[in-house]
Amino acid sequence: MSYFDDLDKHAVPGSLYEKLENNIVRCHACAFRCEIHPGRRGICKMRVNKDGVLLVPHGYVAGAQFDPIEKKPLAHFLPGSQVLTFGMLGCNFHCSFCQNWHTSQVLRDPCADPSIEYIQTVTAKEMVEAALKNGAASIASSYNEPMITAEWAMEVFKLAKNRGLKTAMVSNGYATPETLKALRPCTDALKVDLKSMQEAQYKRMGGKLQPVLDTIKLAHELGFWVEVVTLVIPGFNDSVDELWTAGSYITSVSPDIPWHVTAYHPDYQMVDAPSTPAETLQRAAEIGQEAGLRYVYAGNLPGRVGSLEDTHCPSCSRLLIQRRGYRILKNLVTPEGACQYCGEKIAGVF
Ligand code: SF4
Repeated sequence: MSYFDDLDKHAVPGSLYEKLENNIVRCHACAFRCEIHPGRRGICKMRVNKDGVLLVPHGYVAGAQFDPIEKKPLAHFLPGSQVLTFGMLGCNFHCSFCQNWHTSQVLRDPCADPSIEYIQTVTAKEMVEAALKNGAASIASSYNEPMITAEWAMEVFKLAKNRGLKTAMVSNGYATPETLKALRPCTDALKVDLKSMQEAQYKRMGGKLQPVLDTIKLAHELGFWVEVVTLVIPGFNDSVDELWTAGSYITSVSPDIPWHVTAYHPDYQMVDAPSTPAETLQRAAEIGQEAGLRYVYAGNLPGRVGSLEDTHCPSCSRLLIQRRGYRILKNLVTPEGACQYCGEKIAGVF
């Protein structure tokens, strides 16, 4: 029995697909929209056509833990709270710099250990109970690409919302309007990676740029709380032009969307690029501010980027949330989400 056969024991009929002729299906969970013939799998390897029915992962996690929400990273979404984060397996991209490649690439890279012990069966109810018992304020789907396992996230999130928890997806943004609309009633926040503004770089990762840009725009329009992250990699996406284009695009959707420019360290197959210097992050953040964004953060280098880990009021400029890494040292945003000094509304979920 293969590893895939083992995983398929935990698969159930999905909802984000359509049936075509001759038992062929078209998956709509992510922007690849794979046409999958009977017995075959989509690009992500997680979704399989069995006799004209698309089976999708269900009822397990490959990892789950309690994290500060700042680690997702989400800066304007219940700051200072704990989030129960779970992940499954697989990804629709194959980024050479992936920092979760042991689980995201386990189905296509023999260097990632394909051990079924990775997964732990669990019910949505057990996860929600665990979150409540441990004082988490939210549940997030992360680690692998959550859009490819969106049906399972929705099952967990619906239950979580009924019990008063907030919910979040931590995604590469390669979504479809169908998936975003299906997720929205049970999902509060969406973190989107904007990995590059160059089509050629997205091609290297296996995808295209436009669906990610479309996700940011549509998710904002649908009312998700959206934050965007760019892992700044020297020589890959750190030119002034590219960062300016990224910051300008996010501003065009909304200047209230927080943009996290975060530091890369060599990992997986990309070990030749140097780690991102603090000066590069500071320059990237300045570019984002000049492009019109009201909240720009420099991440992954705690204590080395001045006040770029902190939230300042965009109106009176006073320090409102002081951070070091994932720790909140001070939070002066009112429970209603306003600046304590001048009353300016601070965008986000507080
Ligand atoms: S989730 Fe994306 S990659 Fe996976 S089968 Fe569906 S369309 Fe293809």
